Amino acid sequence: MKYFVVDRGDEISLKLTEQFHQLAASYGMILSDESPDYVVSIGGDGTMLHAFHRFINRLNDIAFVGIHTGRLGFYADWTPDEIEELARVMNSPAEADHLRIVRYPLVEIAITTKNGETETHVALNEFTLRGIEETLVAQLNINDVTFEMFRGDGICISTPSGSTAYNKALNGGLIHPSIEAIQIAEIASINNRVFRTLGSSMILPKHHHCDIYPHAKRRFLLSIDHLHAQRSDVVSIRCRVSDRKVHFARFRPYPFWSRVQRAFIGDDFNK
Ligand code: NAD
Repeated sequence: MKYFVVDRGDEISLKLTEQFHQLAASYGMILSDESPDYVVSIGGDGTMLHAFHRFINRLNDIAFVGIHTGRLGFYADWTPDEIEELARVMNSPAEADHLRIVRYPLVEIAITTKNGETETHVALNEFTLRGIEETLVAQLNINDVTFEMFRGDGICISTPSGSTAYNKALNGGLIHPSIEAIQIAEIASINNRVFRTLGSSMILPKHHHCDIYPHAKRRFLLSIDHLHAQRSDVVSIRCRVSDRKVHFARFRPYPFWSRVQRAFIGDDFNK
């Protein structure tokens, strides 16, 4: 079995990485940054985003596993003191029955530039388009029909597993990752007697798409998960549910709603 580790680079993550390499060697696992079967992310959700983008071209062949070094993460569900157990179950044929690969939907972002070229990206959490220094003005079409002229700070288009991240801060709904959908949420839209946007977030199914046509004369910031770029060459952006999926290896059940409960409510309330 081939594996790779992506860590956050802090002292705890580096120590755990070293420990995982030793455990892996004792089980005969082979370290490979070219074609790993498993990628272990050690750090937080941000580390998993880095791991995902590092292996973006091999998503079909890789199962990601996350160890969190801080508070419980959405993508990182193993604790540092479970690292030996993790290495054991990864290598135990008897545990293979308990191994479940879950596949989460992604958002595809196709950006058409002024020179007529289209570049395609995928996001694990979300894509955002935001104005820089000034209001973002952008036409939003849904399934090729004009929906609204957006004015405000920006637009966020998230995956179901990303619905608990930036989208949640924008009052978007939480979507179970078994649902193949994308969610459009507004970032501080301007609404008054002159300008009007829907104001609610919208959830599009797999066979729908939306197009954003940003006002050409303005500068904007495009973000795909933790990656940001200032652009002025964009004509339109099409978002849809990607045909690709990310695979997570689950060696024990960890239901999405339990993660939501533990992350946002916890045990200290409602006693
Ligand atoms: P980071 O690692 O500091 O992450 C920011 C926070 O988002 C962390 O607390 C992390 O645990 C949490 N997070 C990331 N993915 C999550 C998910 N799927 N569900 C629940 N929480 C999640 O910073 P980064 O590495 O730059 O991460 C980029 C992410 O930060 C973006 O993808 C975006 O979702 C998130 N973000 C959130 C806000 C906000 O909540 N207001 C604003 C900007 C970015």
